[in-house]
Amino acid sequence: MKKWYAALAAVSLAAAAGGIIITFTDGGFESAGGLVSRLLIVASLVGFAIAAIARPAARKAEAVGKGRGGVSDRFRSACTFKDVAANDQALQSLMELKDYLETPEKYARYGARMPRGVLLYGPPGTGKTLLARALAGEAGVPFFALSGSDFVEKFVGVGASRVRELFRKARRAGRCVIFIDEIDAMGKRRDEASSDERDQTLNALLSEMSGFYTGDGVIVIAATNRLDALDPALLRPGRFDRQIEVDLPGREQRLSILRLHSKNKPMASDVSLDEIAAQTISFSGASLECLLNEAAILAAKRGQGDITRQDLQCAFYKTIAGSDRPMAATPEERRIIAVHESGHALASLLLAPENRLARVSILPAGRGAAGYNLCIPAERVMLGKKEIENQICVLLAGRAAEQVVNGSEALTAGASSDIARATELAAAMAMDLGMAGEPAVSLKALNRCCGSGGNSADASRKILADMYARTCSLLEAHIEALESLWKALVESESLSGDQARAIVDRALSNERQQSA
Ligand code: ADP
Ligand code: ZN
Ligand code: MG
Repeated sequence: MKKWYAALAAVSLAAAAGGIIITFTDGGFESAGGLVSRLLIVASLVGFAIAAIARPAARKAEAVGKGRGGVSDRFRSACTFKDVAANDQALQSLMELKDYLETPEKYARYGARMPRGVLLYGPPGTGKTLLARALAGEAGVPFFALSGSDFVEKFVGVGASRVRELFRKARRAGRCVIFIDEIDAMGKRRDEASSDERDQTLNALLSEMSGFYTGDGVIVIAATNRLDALDPALLRPGRFDRQIEVDLPGREQRLSILRLHSKNKPMASDVSLDEIAAQTISFSGASLECLLNEAAILAAKRGQGDITRQDLQCAFYKTIAGSDRPMAATPEERRIIAVHESGHALASLLLAPENRLARVSILPAGRGAAGYNLCIPAERVMLGKKEIENQICVLLAGRAAEQVVNGSEALTAGASSDIARATELAAAMAMDLGMAGEPAVSLKALNRCCGSGGNSADASRKILADMYARTCSLLEAHIEALESLWKALVESESLSGDQARAIVDRALSNERQQSA
């Protein structure tokens, strides 16, 4: 890969085939691995401590599916779509598949090609396993479950044969759902930490998957919280070509999850689920379930009366304190993060609308990351100078928004990875691409051949200064749009691309009216 392309790939985080552009705000927290690894896709991030709490429950559910020695066993899934709250989009997709599982002949007759594999990706505890089980339960077909790490870590040398065995059993069962959890353990990008064992296992999976026909009524569902780490081969058409994001719930969704899980629990009249939903920013479905359970245990220990507000508050702090950093930002911090993220979102909508903004969020996205923007880039073969410059502006727009809204004395550490990436791009423009004023000169080649060829650091600096000034004026010119965006973000924590676009469009047409 050419270096400039590598720099772009880093920026656009060409995660999987789609390539998702993510800009995120570092919280400025130093975590065990230094600042947030840029390759951690945002969707994969969540408070790990909370995930750890959620783990035992999930493990138990999965263990049911395993016979002795970890070999997968079929079992009937007792849960249905009714047991899943909040994940509306994912449910929608799975409902189509339910019909297919029930009557595969119908689809075969019309020559429809059903997705062979469905990939659920998102932070731990968001209900991926639950969704897969619910699909099997709804369709009344057997459920085969195995975890990617079972294939690779536990059974060195037998990964590939495990895969074949699993599919053989499933095939005998006829219509069924095969669930492979933690598929990243077997499907890691082959260049990074590659091993023969893993490659063989992955190849076995791919070839088993291509052996199915639409009439078979078999669906393979895989789950991962590291979409970025997956081997692109897994995501090609005919493999896991349907990818469904299962994200952390927003406030409304948390409320519906809390409602669902409190149905079987006696709640005292002073309990407000709405209040808990507002408090539990960044909680996954699993951690919400866990919170209610903690509260129920407290009430049961007391042995009289229902679950009170007090029980829930105790459980809440217990859950939070169990994590290694406070999950909830202060209101002022939330405002600052919202300003920063709105800057990225606005610049991206104005300068690069072809990259589809999918989500803006101030939900903490894992160790140290405090918010994020998610963009699906347009497919293109070549990037032009304009696009690279716009990309730099979008990256710098978080910092620019901080300065424009809060003043240059109030900058935060949150922009550190943005400006590092913008700098890499500017350096690529100057050194490799002949885009720093001298269109026919590669400073890098000059340095190599002549020992000196002018100062590429200065050239990069100039690009960055120009782009930063341009971004600041852009945001200043549309300050009303910026303000509506960040206020909406503070209010609802997370906006879909469409919501963000609507807000910006409204503000822009206001601006036009005022100037007319
Ligand atoms: P994942 O596989 O994404 O890590 P799980 O499916 O194992 O998450 O979720 C663990 C538990 O959390 C579920 O069994 C369920 O009790 C609860 N849970 C998570 N998400 C939801 C949801 N959207 N609706 C209802 N319960 C949920
Ligand atoms: Zn940023
Ligand atoms: Mg799971």
